[in-house]
Amino acid sequence: MGKGIRIGRLFGINIRIDWSWLFIFLLITWNLATVFGQAHSEWSVLMHWGMAAVAALLFFASVLAHELAHSLVAQAQGIPVRSITLHLFGGVSSIQREPDSPGSEFVMAILGPITSLVIGGVLLLIAGIAAGLSAASVSNIDQALSQMGPGITLLSWLGSVNVILGIFNLIPGFPLDGGRVLRSILWTITDDLRRATQWASWVGQAIAWVMIVTGIGMAFGVQVPIFGQGLINGLWLAFIGWFLNTASAQSYQRLLIKDALSDISVSRIMRSDPPTTTADISIDALVHNHIMQSDDQAFPVLDEGEFVGIVTLDDVRSASRNTWQDKTVREIMTPREQLVTSFPDECADEAMNKLTQRNVRQLPVLQDDGSLAGVLRRQDLIKWLQLESDLTLH
Ligand SMILES: [Zn+2]
Repeated sequence: MGKGIRIGRLFGINIRIDWSWLFIFLLITWNLATVFGQAHSEWSVLMHWGMAAVAALLFFASVLAHELAHSLVAQAQGIPVRSITLHLFGGVSSIQREPDSPGSEFVMAILGPITSLVIGGVLLLIAGIAAGLSAASVSNIDQALSQMGPGITLLSWLGSVNVILGIFNLIPGFPLDGGRVLRSILWTITDDLRRATQWASWVGQAIAWVMIVTGIGMAFGVQVPIFGQGLINGLWLAFIGWFLNTASAQSYQRLLIKDALSDISVSRIMRSDPPTTTADISIDALVHNHIMQSDDQAFPVLDEGEFVGIVTLDDVRSASRNTWQDKTVREIMTPREQLVTSFPDECADEAMNKLTQRNVRQLPVLQDDGSLAGVLRRQDLIKWLQLESDLTLH
């Protein structure tokens, strides 16, 4: 998932928007403007589009409320939350680690959908009261829509969307919230997080395949209760199924990797005697005496024995060819202050997080006194994982 742009901060959590969000925002606005246009031809065109845009914004506020519910529970349990990102499929909270017990996973997972259902229920109730309708007749939104004013129309739409959001997330396909609830129950029964995750992931993949097959059927004209039929609805359902299938398989694989790396220290798998270079040689010397002499992509830079930075093939590539004689390694390297580093006793799982979160290929491993102990490369971790298990890594 892309990083997107940061739009603000709530409860110490960065709120981000993925670019795919803009697409879905426009889609919802356009779709609603059309619906409002048909149901309320007496409104002006500006009103249709204005209401649609406000509704789309409130929809994302609802998704944000859902994610905040997960995140605040996590924080209350001492699990840091880095960010919430809104994207094409809703939202995702970047919760830094798995919960410690089935109980805390259950609460963390279920509060999201409950938040959506409560918001949805309250909005529908207000809409129902305001419209002077009985609660029962509100369920037929389409028919009631044409008799409603703008405010009530908005409330009913937003209310139903929140109810749908809550119900969709309760589907027991891991890693959806319902799948996490299922995993917490399996975790309680088996007392084995790994097996519980595997089973929850299988259920998730099975549900995903049902969605894909149903979606394809709908695209070919099969009428399905609730979901209806039609090419767009069908493709959309198949697309969500495909996304869930990938997410289910990946989340189990990620747990296996975490397992394999959790009881090994960085010092056991790092390269303890990596080829190094010095700060004041020219780029030309670096290329001929170091880069061409080894298969390494990155070289720790030493200055009188002290570790001062890392120089990579990319740094060399971005320096123009005619400066190679005059420029020194020091001028093109990434200085130590800007590097993410590891230490020999660090858990390999933590180091892996650093590599993926910062999207770097290697971490310099430093001793307490700041001297270089070695380098941990992505490929070293992959090699270890291949030795450890029969994981297929992409
Ligand atoms: Zn959720």
